[in-house]
Amino acid sequence: MIDIQQVTKRYKNVAAVDEVSLTIRQGEVFGIIGYSGAGKSTLLRCLNLLERPTEGKVLIDGKDLTALSDNEVRKERQKIGMIFQHFHLISSKTVFDNVAFSLKAAGKTKEEIKKKVPKLLEMVGLSDRSGHYPAQLSGGQKQRVGIARALANDPKVLLCDEATSALDPTTTKSILQLLKKINETLGITIVLITHEMEVVQDICHRVAVMEDGKVVELGDIYDIFANP
Ligand code: ADP
Ligand code: ADP
Repeated sequence: MIDIQQVTKRYKNVAAVDEVSLTIRQGEVFGIIGYSGAGKSTLLRCLNLLERPTEGKVLIDGKDLTALSDNEVRKERQKIGMIFQHFHLISSKTVFDNVAFSLKAAGKTKEEIKKKVPKLLEMVGLSDRSGHYPAQLSGGQKQRVGIARALANDPKVLLCDEATSALDPTTTKSILQLLKKINETLGITIVLITHEMEVVQDICHRVAVMEDGKVVELGDIYDIFANP
């Protein structure tokens, strides 16, 4: 469903992503691991065109995103949710309004928003925090808001950029359980990047290992970790 064809992203002389080709299947949890600077974040951002590849194509459900105009890309991007290491919540808005923000941007009516936001908050276990501000929440709760916001427009794909790296081990577990539930119950394809082995071992079906902008290993989680 996500087809990455010979994607290269260059910054001046550095190829942050260097001729990467990958197919990510519908419904899987796909992990991209590697050391800092390997190109994971750049590759992830090429999937929703937050970065435009210098070369190559990114096809989602057969549609080539790299062939679209910036306006068309913005529309497609609403079908691709994303969560971040540092959550990126709007501190002056309540939990409700942070989640509502994505829906407003997609042109949903107030009635639709009033119906949808509580459902999203229930799914992430934050029904009782609707009127709170981000500063009143724990890290795990902030990430739950991020997840609710990312799922607001019913995306087919959820991109996770080091989503648990700022969280303690117990909170990490609970966020990974939530992502697993979202993958299993909603059938959403998840692509995550991390430098933490435990994260991929916990929830990924397949993994790509990146080094110097290239995918150096690719396989089932069992194959990658079976032979040291
Ligand atoms: P990772 O996510 O694996 O840590 P990144 O994708 O952030 O790796 O970075 C890959 C390489 O690209 C690094 O050498 C980094 O310095 C470089 N890079 C990333 N973003 C930019 C940018 N906006 N401008 C210049 N170089 C960048
Ligand atoms: P606008 O500025 O367009 O009125 P708001 O962001 O103020 O939009 O609110 C959007 C809608 O969501 C409003 O109808 C508001 O009453 C409702 N709303 C905002 N926060 C909450 C909340 N914590 N619980 C329930 N409804 C809320």
